[in-house]
Amino acid sequence: MEILRTIDEVRRTCNALKRGDRTLGLVPTMGALHVGHLSLVRAAKASCDAVAATIFVNPTQFGPNEDFAAYPRTFEQDCAMLEREGVDVLFAPAREEMYPAGAETFVDIPMVGGRLDGASRPGHFRGVATVVAKLFNIFQPTCAFFGQKDAAQVAVLRTMVRDLNFDVEMVVCPTVREVDGLAMSSRNRYLSAEEREQALVLERALRRVERVVAEGERDSDRLRGELRRELEDAAGVRLDYAEIVDARSLEPVSDVGDGVLVAVAAWVGKTRLIDNVVIGAEDAR
Ligand code: AMP
Repeated sequence: MEILRTIDEVRRTCNALKRGDRTLGLVPTMGALHVGHLSLVRAAKASCDAVAATIFVNPTQFGPNEDFAAYPRTFEQDCAMLEREGVDVLFAPAREEMYPAGAETFVDIPMVGGRLDGASRPGHFRGVATVVAKLFNIFQPTCAFFGQKDAAQVAVLRTMVRDLNFDVEMVVCPTVREVDGLAMSSRNRYLSAEEREQALVLERALRRVERVVAEGERDSDRLRGELRRELEDAAGVRLDYAEIVDARSLEPVSDVGDGVLVAVAAWVGKTRLIDNVVIGAEDAR
């Protein structure tokens, strides 16, 4: 695996990798890798001739009081994991390589990017869309792989790809969970043993909604009400949002059916966790 630090090196290497109509899959990450990330790499390996991953803790997607400085950085371990998966190229740029002095252009997706996490974390999706647009321009991948765990991010990036005519196929991979149901996340390592237990209510509450819908309930107000109550009543958990929305527009729906996104965000201690299910879809356990 080649570890590259500059955009010039990436362009040169990717041009060679894509020669003769070979396809390139891109897996953008912020590192602190776990099996959820590796599932994206495996999907990319399965469908593309060459695979590139990126590790960049993107400062523009963190708010001023968020965990940018504390975000886990486990670079050596990440490299070993990606190498084992057969990744061809890892791009791990310094902040100045991605945002040199004077950089002032951003990609803003105000409607979709202002919902769910975009409402709770103003500016978050502006940072995400900007860095992903830059990575798309740098790599010009055939396909890019993202996790369903970040469902709002998927909706925002799909909107960006459509609106800015990126010639990149978005591939969304199922949420990978721990055996007890907790969605894998780099931030899970912030949780104490007690918080780790308390965090299980997110998945439990989402599964309950799935079951109640399967039994015939369609009224989103009622379902949302029950979902919020369960999370609000849970010990050690502070609800941020619990919404039932259209998976593409992230707008609330009144009638719940297949393809509808049920998404939650909650604080467990000082850690903000997100999770979601799509009604009628299976996820990876
Ligand atoms: P991050 O490093 O948190 O920015 O995540 C990089 C990519 O991995 C994003 O596309 C995430 O949606 C995806 N990802 C993170 N956690 C999981 C998970 N548990 N299952 C599937 N994909 C995930």
